[in-house]
Amino acid sequence: MLRPVRQQIRVRGIVQGVGFRPFVYNLAGKLGLAGYVLNSSAGVLIEVEGEPSQIERFVRELSENPPPLAQIEEIAVASLTPAGSAAFEIRESLDEPGHLAPVSPDVSTCLDCLRDVQTPGNRRFGYAFTNCTNCGPRYTITRMIPYDRPLTTMACFAMCERCLREYEDPTNRRFHAQPNACPDCGPALTLSIEQARELLREGRIVAIKGLGGFHLVCDPFNDAAVRQLRERKKRSDKPFALMVPDVAAAEKLCFASDAERAALTSIRRPIVILERRSDSPLSPALAPGNNTLGVMLPYTPLHHLLFDESCRALVMTSGNLSEEPIVTGNREAAARLQSVADAFLFHNRDIHTRVDDSVARVFAGQERILRRSRGYAPHPVTLGFPVAEILACGAELKNTFCLTKDHYAFLSQHIGDLENYETLVFYRETLDRMKQLFRIAPAAVAYDLHPQYLSTKLALEMTDCRQIGVQHHHAHIASCMAENGIEGKAIGVAFDGTGYGTDGKIWGGEFLIADFAGFERRAHFRYIALAGGDRAVREPWRLALSYLLDTFGAHVDSLDLPLFRRVASKKIATVRSMIERRINTVETSAAGRLFDAVASIVGVRDEVNFEAQAAIELETCALPGVDAVYPFELEEDVLWQIDVRPMIERIIRDVLAAKPTGWISAAFHNTVAAIIGEVCLRLRSAEGIDSVCLSGGTFQNVYLVERTVAGLRANGFQVFLHSKVPPNDGGISLGQAVIANATIL
Ligand code: ZN
Ligand code: ZN
Ligand code: FE
Repeated sequence: MLRPVRQQIRVRGIVQGVGFRPFVYNLAGKLGLAGYVLNSSAGVLIEVEGEPSQIERFVRELSENPPPLAQIEEIAVASLTPAGSAAFEIRESLDEPGHLAPVSPDVSTCLDCLRDVQTPGNRRFGYAFTNCTNCGPRYTITRMIPYDRPLTTMACFAMCERCLREYEDPTNRRFHAQPNACPDCGPALTLSIEQARELLREGRIVAIKGLGGFHLVCDPFNDAAVRQLRERKKRSDKPFALMVPDVAAAEKLCFASDAERAALTSIRRPIVILERRSDSPLSPALAPGNNTLGVMLPYTPLHHLLFDESCRALVMTSGNLSEEPIVTGNREAAARLQSVADAFLFHNRDIHTRVDDSVARVFAGQERILRRSRGYAPHPVTLGFPVAEILACGAELKNTFCLTKDHYAFLSQHIGDLENYETLVFYRETLDRMKQLFRIAPAAVAYDLHPQYLSTKLALEMTDCRQIGVQHHHAHIASCMAENGIEGKAIGVAFDGTGYGTDGKIWGGEFLIADFAGFERRAHFRYIALAGGDRAVREPWRLALSYLLDTFGAHVDSLDLPLFRRVASKKIATVRSMIERRINTVETSAAGRLFDAVASIVGVRDEVNFEAQAAIELETCALPGVDAVYPFELEEDVLWQIDVRPMIERIIRDVLAAKPTGWISAAFHNTVAAIIGEVCLRLRSAEGIDSVCLSGGTFQNVYLVERTVAGLRANGFQVFLHSKVPPNDGGISLGQAVIANATIL
């Protein structure tokens, strides 16, 4: 026998709470190695002693066949002097100051656990809190690292003898499963599942405590129930998400491609935006004016238990009032959701961290995240370069913030719209926790240039670190570059609804030449007036009027437009004089506002009750198979201006000629794609750059993205889109962070 050797192996990445130690224990046993494994705050630390060839196999197995949920980023091996160990053991966790180990996101129920829950006679039959090392709650119950039961909200439940035996048996699936529980010793529900199902069948609204917060639940086939939920939740038209028991149930209501089925069944279980079938018997109030539906599959045993042959879909919307954060505590729910829910299904496992459902959409064959939260956060975006410790505060709507360290960018879960006190509290609380969890003490804080954003105000309060203002659209483009690993210069196309510009105007139809260190604004949509600030955003007809006045001037009076019959003439006169005399107006180049204007001009929508509603409905009505493009002009000054007045003129002509709205919409989308193509061609000949990054909320429009990408690729451009972080303002914080990092350097 060869002389034994001893090696120390440090594993970094997502290696805690994913069954890594039992895997190591069993592997060492199989190869006849002695030593130990432990969780440290830096990852997993292993020492193995035995035959050199077996140790080699051990390291190879570790890197090639790790447990399914693990994501290894680094394995470092060092030689030690043999210590004469005889056995292999799992040791107590170790706290290594200054180090960080990523915390696993929550994982949906695995098939083995589902079988336990659904098998009569199994001791976990019908048990809503069943989990194992391969599945279950993680981030939502973790108070601190290392990830051990006493540092989670499971600390107050003492394991019964049988659970403890599983927990201590290295051959058991629940070996060191920190939230391990059973009906004898674990968390319990306050209402029976049968009672909850009965209430839902009767058309009641039930608030159900989930993984990262409460859901408001009702029967989606019951129109009265859905309308009641809308009324009580004070949510007029914004779509409600559905939960369905399986893919087959999803395909009864929607169409799904292979990639969409994969997104639905992934362990992260996001809400997936699918094209809906027009013949489904769902309540029309579910997602008015929309040909898509947000659908997700069950991700906890409790969810699975809600479904049976008679229940094949449920509305599952965040348990909150309009735009407030999702409710997590039992008492909080009883108070805040009292006016919305007819009944409550509580349980007594505390939710430590509030996390909403994530939202994804598949296009160009890939899952694209639109709201990054449960199942994804706090998994970091890995950067191709080391970063300083930075806090990037994000923007205002769909806020996330971002903390960086080593080569990681930890984006917070979706925080929401920073427009009310409750959301601000959620922001501060999550920030404190994530700083503690990942041991990050920011040396710099990055913020949006908009002086009125709460995130900006928060950043400016942090006088103990370097403050770095980042332009909104530069951040959008840097975010897209960072997640795609681009470090040189790129052409950035940033289209959205609002972003504060360096000239104090509202930007949002921008072409930049950018890298992390800086940007040059090279082209933008011609400025038009935004009359009445926020009201203009809620009333797209005001934008229509701006574009009409810009295009036709005083001749606007001679136009016999349907718009002028839909909106009261007194209102039009008031806003017109505001625009003409520049009273209470700001100038904007935002693409989002152009979509609003066109939506109103063609009669799709004059007022909205949630962000981007008009643009979504305009996209929804676009006819397939239209290739027409409207004319536009590009004025090549120092800063190029895109003039869409020729297009507006033609759209008016088509509206007056009663061309189908869907045709006009398609031609309009084609024109925006053509504008992008033309400007990129000219920028390429000027700069010799052929990488194009598309970012900003407007690029959630699938028709526009597909058309744009096809056009750019046909011209030999390399096109980069978002997939890991949202193209909307939920992805801004990542861009702010990498820009601040470059600024410090
Ligand atoms: Zn499991
Ligand atoms: Zn038990
Ligand atoms: Fe934006």
